[in-house]
Amino acid sequence: MKKNIKSVLNKNLRQLRLPAMLECYNEQAILARKESFSYEQYLLELAEYELEGRRENRIARYLKDSKIPLEKSLTTFDRKRLPQKVNAQLSVLLDGSFLNRTENILAFGNPGSGKTHLLCAIGQELIYQGHRVLFKSCNLLVQEMLIAKRDLKLPNYLKKIAKYDALIIDDIGYVQQDRQEMEVLFTLLADRYERSSMLISSNLPFSQWEKIFKDPMTTAAAIDRLVHHSVILELNLTSYRLEHSQNTKQQKSAIKENAVLE
Ligand code: ADP
Ligand code: MG
Repeated sequence: MKKNIKSVLNKNLRQLRLPAMLECYNEQAILARKESFSYEQYLLELAEYELEGRRENRIARYLKDSKIPLEKSLTTFDRKRLPQKVNAQLSVLLDGSFLNRTENILAFGNPGSGKTHLLCAIGQELIYQGHRVLFKSCNLLVQEMLIAKRDLKLPNYLKKIAKYDALIIDDIGYVQQDRQEMEVLFTLLADRYERSSMLISSNLPFSQWEKIFKDPMTTAAAIDRLVHHSVILELNLTSYRLEHSQNTKQQKSAIKENAVLE
């Protein structure tokens, strides 16, 4: 290709914002000549590169925007620790189709049983599939909503959150909420009900949710909305943190015992 054509082409591709095409058109042209690609085939190759580049950029953007702690991924998650039933449920959830059915995921279990890690791992997989996900601790979410409410901007805040296909609310009920806090939380649950999915983790079983929503009516209404279309993951596991520290403790005491016997 003449030098002049190349420099104009580079400029045009830049102006058209086609960075992947710009990056690879020369190399692909050499390959196309060698392999006798048709013009259409060559153009298709370039378009595919551009699309793939955009997909990768979008995923990187969504991951950053999600605020999910990225180290809590599916690759770092040991699925063998899960009860068999939860493991089977997870396989189904990972195809992402629960989002189309606006189903919620509710993960219950003791502190350290892996609820946050599991929901974050699912969240990241959803992003790889092209969905938008937002991670918030329940506490932060409630505080942000209270500020928005004070500034008469709660509808705006809810609208901003509504653009996400899935909202992870981590540790609902972990911090005892006052009435005002409970009210905004309920507003959010009602707002998202049957519109988009929520992934919620809690140390408290439903039987103790009155601690969160204060009166029996609101508690029943909240549970009813969440459970209506939902998948419940019971993680009834011993704490991963505890297990690890116990393993080291056991190793240490075994070493001590051996030392005494000797
Ligand atoms: P929870 O939210 O139930 O309190 P976390 O998800 O925060 O528990 O898990 C506690 C710690 O143990 C985290 O560092 C997490 O990465 C790790 N962990 C828990 N379960 C697993 C697992 N199945 N595989 C790998 N790490 C795990
Ligand atoms: Mg947690």
